[in-house]
Amino acid sequence: MMKIRNFFILIILFIITSLSILSVSTISSDLSDLRGNIKEQNKIKYLQLLLIAGERIFDEHQVSKMANFYLLAGPINYHPVDSAINNLIAFTGQEPKTDEFPYDKYTALEVKRLSEEIRKDKRFSSAYSFNRLESIIEYQIIQIQNHSAEFMIAIEGVRLTTQLYSFFTELIDQLIDIDISHNMDESSAIKAIKLLGAIDETENRLISIQKNYLKHSNQSEEIDTLVNEIFSHDTIKIKHLIYNNFDSSIINDVGLQRVNHSYFQAKYHLSSLNQMLLSEATDISASQIYLSRIKIYSMVCFLAIFFLFAILPISVMIYKLSGAFTLVQKAVTQLSNNDLNINFNENQSRFSFELESIIQSLIKLKKIQIEKYRLENRNKELIRKLQLSATTDYLTGISNRRAFLDAIRYLPADQQYGASLALIDIDNFKHINDRFGHSCGDEVLIKFSRLLKTFFRKEDLFCRYGGEEFAILLYDCDNQQAQKTLDRLCKKARYLSVISTESEKEKIYFTISIDSTELSDRSSINHAINRADKALYHAKTTGKDRVITYTPQIEISTE
Ligand code: GH3
Ligand code: MG
Ligand code: MG
Repeated sequence: MMKIRNFFILIILFIITSLSILSVSTISSDLSDLRGNIKEQNKIKYLQLLLIAGERIFDEHQVSKMANFYLLAGPINYHPVDSAINNLIAFTGQEPKTDEFPYDKYTALEVKRLSEEIRKDKRFSSAYSFNRLESIIEYQIIQIQNHSAEFMIAIEGVRLTTQLYSFFTELIDQLIDIDISHNMDESSAIKAIKLLGAIDETENRLISIQKNYLKHSNQSEEIDTLVNEIFSHDTIKIKHLIYNNFDSSIINDVGLQRVNHSYFQAKYHLSSLNQMLLSEATDISASQIYLSRIKIYSMVCFLAIFFLFAILPISVMIYKLSGAFTLVQKAVTQLSNNDLNINFNENQSRFSFELESIIQSLIKLKKIQIEKYRLENRNKELIRKLQLSATTDYLTGISNRRAFLDAIRYLPADQQYGASLALIDIDNFKHINDRFGHSCGDEVLIKFSRLLKTFFRKEDLFCRYGGEEFAILLYDCDNQQAQKTLDRLCKKARYLSVISTESEKEKIYFTISIDSTELSDRSSINHAINRADKALYHAKTTGKDRVITYTPQIEISTE
């Protein structure tokens, strides 16, 4: 059977365990959410850096190409590309969990390699490298699972920009070719048409950005200006220039310069738009991270509060209640075992009215039990006193006739056999009474009783038989031995004396007459007493102060 305290402990443990499992699973799912959000945010940041690096590579390529063929631009500054790529590599390096981003480091190094490739190839088409760069950016976009409206639009912008870069690079290459060969071929025209298509697509996407996004964005005004700039100014200008240049079939340096200039304008505004939208997407990720953190903190706080205000007080209460139960159980067991050593702390709070009343009843029961034991002990004492007074002579304190006869009656037969019975009578006792008073007579009786107590063996029985007569049973003692013992007693009695209460303070001596007879079996006790009586009479009539052993001749002589 289970103890109530163990039962409560089991329940508490069960609650704590299930609560812990629940909270651990909730917190771990929140934590994985948090980790996912942080990962997403890193991916978006990485995409931003990737875009900046890509943009710088395009810029550098354009500038170096133009410079190479037309000597229009100043000295080439490689620094922006290098620092953008270094930033990219550094960001992947900062990420300790490279196993979660296995492609990042590789991607950053690939971008670096592509940039070096493009840098080397100033004269020929770098389309392959640019396509590769485009697909790297696209791949990074696919990795991001953030599906917020802001991010989707930002992705549109990114795709448009890279498309624009790619087409534009090809166009510039074609224009340079035409310029070198002074021949406008069919493929150049197709590329120009493709570019126009790309620009149209850009415009359509920009319209959708304006319609879907502007109302919700925090930076709506800024974005609105940028979209208008690209849409109504930059792209129209590029379109116009392309139309003009191809229509006239004359490509000249000035035309090329204008195309290049407008491209830079459009590209500049587009990349600003992209960065702004990506920043917003990053902000949303950050707010999601914040929310995840808040969820975890609130869960932990809830658990702490729950533990403090529910589990802790309940545990304390259960501990005290079960303590009271154990106390009651111990007390009841003790009471049922007649053990009254029960201690209740009166001041201790026991939480429950029922327990309190049980304990109060137990306290009452304890008092009743104590009273019962007290009465029982008193009764026992009374009975003991009654028994004593029924078997003891009140004056001398030795056994009375009843106790003596009972003891003989219940004596085993083998012990009766061989025992001797003797009757003792104090001589001339009446005279002592008459001469010195009753109290002196009593003193004589007391003194003689004391002698009997010290004189006989432990196993011998003696009593005050009545008046100034005493009876004795000597175990394992035949007539001869009895005669000897009783002679000695007779002699000792002669030396006993009491002091008279009268003014003379006279010493009073007395003598005794004793008879004895052998006891043979139980039925003969009365006969033995009869015989002893007769012997005693003989002793009295033959001079007193002597011991007479019964013989049949005595009987004849008394008759
Ligand atoms: P004998 O030598 O023949 O035995 O003569 P006795 O005087 O001793 O015997 P008797 O039977 O004539 O007297 C006994 C007296 O003992 C009579 C009675 O008043 C007295 N007596 C009996 N019981 C007590 C007692 O308890 N105290 C006192 N002081 N006297 C008692
Ligand atoms: Mg007598
Ligand atoms: Mg007498």
